[in-house]
Amino acid sequence: MYDIIIIGAGPAGLTSALYALRANKKVLVLEAKNYGGQIINASKVENYPAIESISGFDFATNLYNQVKKLGMEIKYETVIHLKEDKTVTTNKNEYKARAVIIATGSQNRKLNLPNEKDFVGKGVSYCATCDGAFYKGKTVCVNGGGNTALEDALYLSSIANKVYLIHRRDEFRGDERTSNLLKEKGNVEFIFNSNIISLNGKEKLESITIEDNLANKKDIKIDALFIAIGQEPKNEIFSNVVSINSNGYIESDDGVHTKTKGIYVAGDTRVKILRQLTTAVSDGSIAATVAIKEMKKNN
Ligand code: NAP
Repeated sequence: MYDIIIIGAGPAGLTSALYALRANKKVLVLEAKNYGGQIINASKVENYPAIESISGFDFATNLYNQVKKLGMEIKYETVIHLKEDKTVTTNKNEYKARAVIIATGSQNRKLNLPNEKDFVGKGVSYCATCDGAFYKGKTVCVNGGGNTALEDALYLSSIANKVYLIHRRDEFRGDERTSNLLKEKGNVEFIFNSNIISLNGKEKLESITIEDNLANKKDIKIDALFIAIGQEPKNEIFSNVVSINSNGYIESDDGVHTKTKGIYVAGDTRVKILRQLTTAVSDGSIAATVAIKEMKKNN
């Protein structure tokens, strides 16, 4: 029996663990993939207060080590079911806790093109910082208009020979500062109002076909496509214990409680205005504090 089971070892989940362990609670963190969540792929984080600049990997690893030193128990297992009585079933085991914090973040959104899956690792990537180095001196494309796409394009501009940045609208969603930096790069070409409609190649990705909003089609030869079109949550497995909105995010009236007593939510996976590192760690600390407080009340 654990005091708190935290599902997800991204910044929100690890911060919950930090607070819960410092309060001497018996904590189990369950993570399906690797610690760090989405931020581990950010080449640079420059908007976290008091830290001028840090790589996402270093940030996540520092946080992980900080919590590990407090004795965090972490198991790399995939949660498949959560019961109202706080029984958590994974692909390997079953655990029980007095409280559960769902901090599962979100996953990379896919273009959902027919052969997208087949080209993963063969020219299609969702992580520029992980795979960018394979395309030194090559022609690459980034798809998306948010901060991830802009930062990916900036990162790749110093590795690749040519970077196309394709966005479906005529203005970026991401920071103007980064888009201005991109404009100064001689090897970055913006293509607005366009969608990628097909991925072409035999053994590996060789070109993409794009279509603009006047239905003009064009083929572009590229060696790699970095898809950075945002994230989406995967909360269907929790639908018996939480309310989920039409976009798949967990609803919470006050940003921490779900509809089930003793089951809390933190980080990107909940309905919220701003999904950033700052708000994820804020959520994590609040969820753990509230869970501990309510646990005491129920004793
Ligand atoms: P995002 O802000 O949600 O942007 C996703 C982009 O992809 C948008 O431009 C969107 O277009 C486009 N898009 C969505 N679905 C698409 C589709 N099916 N086909 C083509 N384009 C599509 O996602 P993000 O860039 O991953 O950023 C997520 C959050 O993390 C944001 O809050 C961001 O600021 C933050 N972030 C912060 C940092 C940092 O602080 N260093 C770094 C990276 C990300 P529309 O604009 O037309 O909707």
